[in-house]
Amino acid sequence: MEFCEKCSNLMKPIREDNVSYLVCVNCENKVKVSKNKTKAYTITREIKHSPKDKLEVTEKRPLKALTDEEREELEDSYGDMLEQMDVD
Ligand SMILES: [Zn+2]
Repeated sequence: MEFCEKCSNLMKPIREDNVSYLVCVNCENKVKVSKNKTKAYTITREIKHSPKDKLEVTEKRPLKALTDEEREELEDSYGDMLEQMDVD
Protein backbone atom coordinates (compact mmCIF):
# COMPACT_ATOMS: atom_id res chain seq x y z
CA MET A 1 0.00 0.00 0.00
CA GLU A 2 1.34 3.38 -0.98
CA PHE A 3 0.38 6.80 0.28
CA CYS A 4 0.63 10.22 -1.30
CA GLU A 5 3.74 12.12 -0.32
CA LYS A 6 1.85 15.39 -0.62
CA CYS A 7 -1.34 14.74 1.31
CA SER A 8 -0.89 11.22 2.76
CA ASN A 9 -4.01 9.89 1.11
CA LEU A 10 -4.27 6.49 -0.51
CA MET A 11 -2.53 6.02 -3.83
CA LYS A 12 -4.54 4.04 -6.34
CA PRO A 13 -2.73 1.95 -8.97
CA ILE A 14 -3.75 2.61 -12.55
CA ARG A 15 -2.40 1.53 -15.92
CA GLU A 16 -1.78 3.71 -18.93
CA ASP A 17 -0.07 2.54 -22.10
CA ASN A 18 1.19 -0.56 -20.33
CA VAL A 19 2.84 1.52 -17.63
CA SER A 20 1.71 1.40 -14.02
CA TYR A 21 1.16 4.55 -12.04
CA LEU A 22 -0.05 5.36 -8.58
CA VAL A 23 -2.53 8.21 -8.44
CA CYS A 24 -3.56 9.92 -5.26
CA VAL A 25 -7.32 9.63 -4.70
CA ASN A 26 -7.35 13.07 -3.15
CA CYS A 27 -5.00 15.46 -4.96
CA GLU A 28 -4.28 13.36 -8.09
CA ASN A 29 -0.57 13.36 -7.50
CA LYS A 30 0.71 10.81 -10.02
CA VAL A 31 3.79 8.65 -9.58
CA LYS A 32 5.20 6.17 -12.02
CA VAL A 33 5.58 2.70 -10.52
CA SER A 34 8.85 0.95 -11.12
CA LYS A 35 8.90 -2.76 -11.87
CA ASN A 36 10.64 -3.43 -8.59
CA LYS A 37 7.99 -1.62 -6.66
CA THR A 38 5.21 -3.59 -8.31
CA LYS A 39 6.93 -6.82 -7.36
CA ALA A 40 7.27 -5.62 -3.81
CA TYR A 41 3.51 -5.40 -3.62
CA THR A 42 3.26 -8.95 -4.80
CA ILE A 43 5.50 -10.23 -2.04
CA THR A 44 3.62 -8.34 0.62
CA ARG A 45 0.30 -9.67 -0.57
CA GLU A 46 1.36 -13.29 -0.75
CA ILE A 47 2.87 -13.23 2.70
CA LYS A 48 -0.12 -11.46 4.14
CA HIS A 49 -2.60 -13.92 2.76
CA SER A 50 -0.79 -17.04 3.89
CA PRO A 51 1.69 -16.29 6.66
CA LYS A 52 2.12 -19.94 7.53
CA ASP A 53 3.13 -20.71 3.97
CA LYS A 54 5.60 -17.87 3.84
CA LEU A 55 8.71 -19.96 3.40
CA GLU A 56 7.05 -22.38 1.07
CA VAL A 57 5.73 -19.62 -1.14
CA THR A 58 9.09 -17.95 -1.26
CA GLU A 59 10.82 -21.13 -2.27
CA LYS A 60 8.23 -22.35 -4.74
CA ARG A 61 7.57 -19.08 -6.44
CA PRO A 62 10.50 -16.71 -6.37
CA LEU A 63 9.53 -13.44 -8.03
CA LYS A 64 11.81 -13.94 -10.98
CA ALA A 65 9.89 -17.12 -11.79
CA LEU A 66 6.60 -15.32 -12.14
CA THR A 67 5.40 -15.12 -15.70
CA ASP A 68 4.17 -11.80 -17.02
CA GLU A 69 0.68 -13.23 -16.96
CA GLU A 70 0.89 -14.25 -13.32
CA ARG A 71 2.33 -10.91 -12.38
CA GLU A 72 -0.44 -9.03 -14.16
CA GLU A 73 -3.01 -11.20 -12.49
CA LEU A 74 -1.61 -10.24 -9.12
CA GLU A 75 -1.51 -6.61 -10.11
CA ASP A 76 -5.14 -6.83 -11.11
CA SER A 77 -5.99 -8.41 -7.79
CA TYR A 78 -4.28 -5.59 -6.05
CA GLY A 79 -6.30 -3.11 -8.07
CA ASP A 80 -9.56 -4.91 -7.28
CA MET A 81 -8.71 -4.91 -3.63
CA LEU A 82 -8.23 -1.16 -3.65
CA GLU A 83 -11.45 -0.62 -5.55
CA GLN A 84 -13.36 -2.53 -2.91
CA MET A 85 -11.85 -0.35 -0.24
CA ASP A 86 -12.79 2.77 -2.14
CA VAL A 87 -16.09 3.63 -0.50
CA ASP A 88 -17.02 7.03 -1.78
ZN1 LIG B 1 -2.30 13.49 -2.54
